[in-house]
Amino acid sequence: MKTDRATLSSEQLALVIRAAESAFPQECCGLLFGQRTAEGWQIVQAHAMRNASAKPELGFEFEAREQLRAYREAEAAGLEIVGHYHSHPNARAGPSPTDLQIARERYDRGLWLIVAIENGKFIDASLWQLHGEPGEFVRVELRQH
Ligand SMILES: [Zn+2]
Repeated sequence: MKTDRATLSSEQLALVIRAAESAFPQECCGLLFGQRTAEGWQIVQAHAMRNASAKPELGFEFEAREQLRAYREAEAAGLEIVGHYHSHPNARAGPSPTDLQIARERYDRGLWLIVAIENGKFIDASLWQLHGEPGEFVRVELRQH
C-alpha cells in the first residue's frame, strides 16, 4: 500500500487556509477525515477543532470530548481519522522540533498537514508523516482535486 501520496479537494484546503488566517496570531487545528486507498490517502474532510491549548500562539491541543465526538462523526460518515492539521503563525513551513517530539512520543503515524501563516496571510501548506523509529518526518505529496 502506498502511503506517500494524498489527495484533498481545493475547497477543503481553502477552508483550512481560511481557518489558519483567521486564527492568526494563534494556531488553528482540526482533524482530517478520509480513507486509505490503493492510490494512497484520500482526505475527504477537514474537520475544524477548537485549539484548547493554554498558549494557542505557541501550540495546539485538542479537547478530549470534542475529539471523541469527531471520531464518532467520522465513523458515522464511513471515514477514518487519517491525521490532523494545524497552522504555524510564525511562518515556519513544515514540522517544528516540538511537532517531531510530539509525533515520536505518541507514535503518531497519521498525516500532518501544516499551514504556514505570515502576518495573517497564507504562505505554505505541506503534508508530512513520521517514518521509522524513533521517527523522522517524511514529506507526503499533496494533490489537489
Ligand atoms: Zn507545528
